[in-house]
Amino acid sequence: MKIPEQLEEVIKHFSSFQGIGEKTATRFALSLLNWDKTRISHFSEAIENLLTVGKCPKCGFLAVENECRLCEQSNHRHTHQICVVESITDCMAIQKSLTYSGHYHILNGVLNPLMGVGPEEIGVEGLLSRIQERNYTEVILAINSTVEGDATCSYIRDQLPEKVRVERIGFGLPMGGSLEYVDALTITKALENRKQF
Ligand SMILES: [Zn+2]
Repeated sequence: MKIPEQLEEVIKHFSSFQGIGEKTATRFALSLLNWDKTRISHFSEAIENLLTVGKCPKCGFLAVENECRLCEQSNHRHTHQICVVESITDCMAIQKSLTYSGHYHILNGVLNPLMGVGPEEIGVEGLLSRIQERNYTEVILAINSTVEGDATCSYIRDQLPEKVRVERIGFGLPMGGSLEYVDALTITKALENRKQF
């Protein structure tokens, strides 16, 4: 394309997003050309500020300072339940369903031995020590129903002492589907209908 390099550069950035093709990326970049200087600087400042967002050392959710908002809130709430998810987006989906009021733990994905992803890579150790320290008696595995997800659930269950009740959600959720794309009502039903695992 015979367009200014500056525009090409921005298109390249937008195209790198999952699900955004070159056409959409070009449209985004062209609309930025219509923005005034203040709007552009607010936008770039907002992106720059993302550098301050990291992960909560306790639960793995998004955090700006040491502790995330979920942990901050849950410090005042005593519960024996912890819900384990495989991604931040799945955690957000459950939060949106407003059904669950216990604590969360976000793993860094699921086990995938063929790709060299073991328990250490997904942070199982952190989960197990948290369960032990806080004496959770009920672990809800809200991990997606995939081959890797099933293996991850079995692995976690086998590492936990027998006195801990392990449950898995599943009702109404599509096989191989992701919580992220499921509506709030289905998540609510899946949580209500969890089964001992
Ligand atoms: Zn946290």
